[in-house]
Amino acid sequence: MIFDVITIFPDIFKSFLAESLLAKAIEKNILEVRFTNPRDFAADRHHTADDRPYGGGPGMVMKPEPLAAAIEAASARGAGRPRRIYLSPSGRRLTQEKVEELSGLGRLILVCGRYEGLDQRVIDLFIDEEISIGDYVVNGGEAPAMVLIEATARLLPGFMGKMESAAEESHQSGLLEYPHYTRPPEFRGLGVPERLLSGDHKDVARWRLAAALARTLRERPEMLAKAGVSPEALKILPHLYRAEAAAAGRPAAAKNAAKRSVAKKS
Ligand code: SAM
Repeated sequence: MIFDVITIFPDIFKSFLAESLLAKAIEKNILEVRFTNPRDFAADRHHTADDRPYGGGPGMVMKPEPLAAAIEAASARGAGRPRRIYLSPSGRRLTQEKVEELSGLGRLILVCGRYEGLDQRVIDLFIDEEISIGDYVVNGGEAPAMVLIEATARLLPGFMGKMESAAEESHQSGLLEYPHYTRPPEFRGLGVPERLLSGDHKDVARWRLAAALARTLRERPEMLAKAGVSPEALKILPHLYRAEAAAAGRPAAAKNAAKRSVAKKS
């Protein structure tokens, strides 16, 4: 898969792409990340990429001409018409579902904004989709582009040693993932859940499902309504609701929530 990144700060990506699994994926040709710098398309000798906003106000806006030329040049670096994404706090929130969709596309153009963002006409003319990494603002689109690249790349065949580890991860299954433990068996007074030490793979799977459900219920209860809850999970859920409710001291509310969630699924 090819990512064509449009940025005025390509060096920010250097160590990100030179380490660990991303570096290996690039070496194995699973992934290629290329850069186009709008400054290289600026007409003036200072390579100006920003200008004052019409209507006044603080901050600068990315100039349309060099940015448009950079997007066109990057688009022309391959066959077909790649999807053009602008990383933007005004975009739709990046989700695992979206990441899965993107991992099926051969090439993406990622436009990183700086300053107050892009001239709206560049968005209107060139951008297919705006994607946000969350409801907060960072200085530029580079960190959001890295998030998108890494999340997408991990789903490419051959990126991870075992694809099943991706399948079990938080959000991939619609639930948060169960907790992990490794040696030593006791650490600063805390042990490891007995059932993980039993060697009974079926029981370990049951424990992990219950732990994933409990964690999702505690941290992100709204995910349960959307998750494809299995018949096995349906048996466990009401008990977990009761246990969580008892711990939080609000039995009635939890009982109703349990009924609502189970009803949505059946
Ligand atoms: N003035 C913009 C606003 O209020 O929406 C914020 C501009 S921000 C300082 C500069 C650039 O950072 C944006 O153009 C965008 O590319 C990137 N950016 C900031 N926060 C982001 C987020 N949550 N998700 C994706 N990109 C973001």
